[in-house]
Amino acid sequence: MQVATHLQHIHPSYIREILAAATAEGIISLAGGLPATDRFPLSLMAESIAELPRHAELFQYGETAGYRPLLDHLENLYQVASSHRMMVCSGSQQGLDLIARTFLNPGDGVAMEAPSYPGALQVFGMARAAIHPVQQHRDGPDLDALESLFASGQVKLFYAVPDFHNPTGVCWTLEVRQKVASLCDRYGVALIEDAPYRELRFAGKELPLVSTFCPERALVLRSFSKIATPGIRLGMLSGPRDWLPALIRVKQASDLHSSIPMQALILDLITHPGFPGHIRQLCDLYSERYQALATALSEYLGEGFDAEPVQGGMFLWLKLPVLDSAAVARAALTKRVAVVPSTAFYPKGVSAEPALRLNFSHEAPDTLREAVRRLARVLI
Ligand code: PMP
Repeated sequence: MQVATHLQHIHPSYIREILAAATAEGIISLAGGLPATDRFPLSLMAESIAELPRHAELFQYGETAGYRPLLDHLENLYQVASSHRMMVCSGSQQGLDLIARTFLNPGDGVAMEAPSYPGALQVFGMARAAIHPVQQHRDGPDLDALESLFASGQVKLFYAVPDFHNPTGVCWTLEVRQKVASLCDRYGVALIEDAPYRELRFAGKELPLVSTFCPERALVLRSFSKIATPGIRLGMLSGPRDWLPALIRVKQASDLHSSIPMQALILDLITHPGFPGHIRQLCDLYSERYQALATALSEYLGEGFDAEPVQGGMFLWLKLPVLDSAAVARAALTKRVAVVPSTAFYPKGVSAEPALRLNFSHEAPDTLREAVRRLARVLI
């Protein structure tokens, strides 16, 4: 059957192709965005999982906005103001999709950092938004470009990942956070602050969410994918109280509500006394893996390859002195290492900085080292 007109320009994602190739025997994959499977906090969840059959009421239909005890806990934990509200969604990806379907008409302008998260490019592409890329520097988006874009009146939403950006690992400085918030306020642009990696900080000091400086115009997306497990598919969306009812209506039409048993499990997990220790161990682990990757890159590649240090998250952005990063990624596959070329992170027609996204959360230090050794055979 012919797909709907608005989908006809959506092409299969290049990342999916690479990820499919990356599962072949003998390939080391630094291509996915996978948290460490062997560190999922399943032992902290075991007792609650065993208890589930005694709670038939959790398996009934529930509220669209979320499982009330979880919402109450989260609103308290994140100090959601009374002028604001939170809802649960099926991963932050669903939150993004709900925002696009609730607030965008075809042709509405969405500013995004370039490069940017492909899942967001896909959502805004399907919403037929006009995407306006804003170049990203090592401490956040280009503020002059952002201001002239906002001043042009063409932008309704600004989508950003200020903490350990996917794909670059960039974390905005405090000054950039304040400046972006004041630009959003001054020009009446809504901010979507996507923060799935925020808790994965292994160096430096935690900085306030950008939305704390422009609370009246910001929607915040958070996720349990990186701190619990992605397969559980739970995230949350918060924003000004009167923006939420429309989002909740759209979610209702989409899936009625997210899984209640999973929400109950997540509530038990995040209130478990062992949970803060789990996050600390995860950050230590990622720090160790990141160091292993960064060390191997400087040993095997040396001069000419620039990888900006990161303070958290799961990704390193390796800038290449050659132009065709897609060709490099293809050649890397023949050496049995999978990486994602920068071209996957830019809107169509925007020229990509030559670079590769390398994931360091999923593989052990020795495997990361071996992956870099293989990559070096392509690059030098
Ligand atoms: N936003 C960003 C920036 C991401 O990198 C991802 C996935 N890795 C998501 C959202 C979607 O995450 P979730 O599993 O919560 O849907």
